[in-house]
Amino acid sequence: MQPKYHRVLLKLSGESLAGNQSHGIDFDTVMKICRSIKSCADMGVQIAIVVGGGNFWRGRSSGKMDRTRADHMGMLATTINALGIADALEQLGLVVRVQTAIEMRQIAEPYIRNRAVRHLEKGRVVVFGCGTGNPFFSTDTAAALRAAEIDADIILKATMVDGVYDSDPKKNADAKKFDSLTFYNVLEKNLQVMDSTAASLCRDNHIPICVFSIEDPENIVRAICGEKIGTIVKEETQ
Ligand code: UDP
Repeated sequence: MQPKYHRVLLKLSGESLAGNQSHGIDFDTVMKICRSIKSCADMGVQIAIVVGGGNFWRGRSSGKMDRTRADHMGMLATTINALGIADALEQLGLVVRVQTAIEMRQIAEPYIRNRAVRHLEKGRVVVFGCGTGNPFFSTDTAAALRAAEIDADIILKATMVDGVYDSDPKKNADAKKFDSLTFYNVLEKNLQVMDSTAASLCRDNHIPICVFSIEDPENIVRAICGEKIGTIVKEETQ
């Protein structure tokens, strides 16, 4: 298989790292995902990763807490995941750098765009922690922002669902899956691809998104090789 993309931004939800557990990190699951990432890196693809934190904490679900503080906790959760992924990738022999949007100098590099790009050019995998570094944002928005900054060819959004549907497939057996969509469709129909801040950032910066299921981690390789999996969101559908 030949890669279709040269530089990709892989967005992994926190949930995708939990495996069959409802919470935390299942290291076997992380290893499976990382083996696929390694296959892509071995093909010469430059890979940057933005990871979520929902397997530990989501600011918006925190109930009575102050939202800003709850989001700070969420960003710390993304960093726990970033370190877990980095460790697994290193065990597989890859060179990895973790960069965080909030400085944690003893455990990760601070996010510096040019430095991140240099790492990618040298074949290192870069894992971004702390989302955008700001409360009231999501790691989907961080993925869109970092993809624009590093000039990624595409965002690969690995989720627990195998694409974008017109209604929730877990609640509606007749839900219809889309093979491709435009950003206009996504924003107009309020489809649950990513939040609207993230979707408009991708639209404005012409970054396509491929949404696919991570239940089979090999899907990362398939998506990078341009196989028609999941749902692709771009400016025009053909
Ligand atoms: N978060 C934040 N700013 C960001 C990214 C994330 O405050 O730029 C916080 C927020 O509380 C969020 C949590 O980190 O709920 C985990 O991120 P997210 O919910 O996007 O993770 P996912 O659902 O992808 O696992």
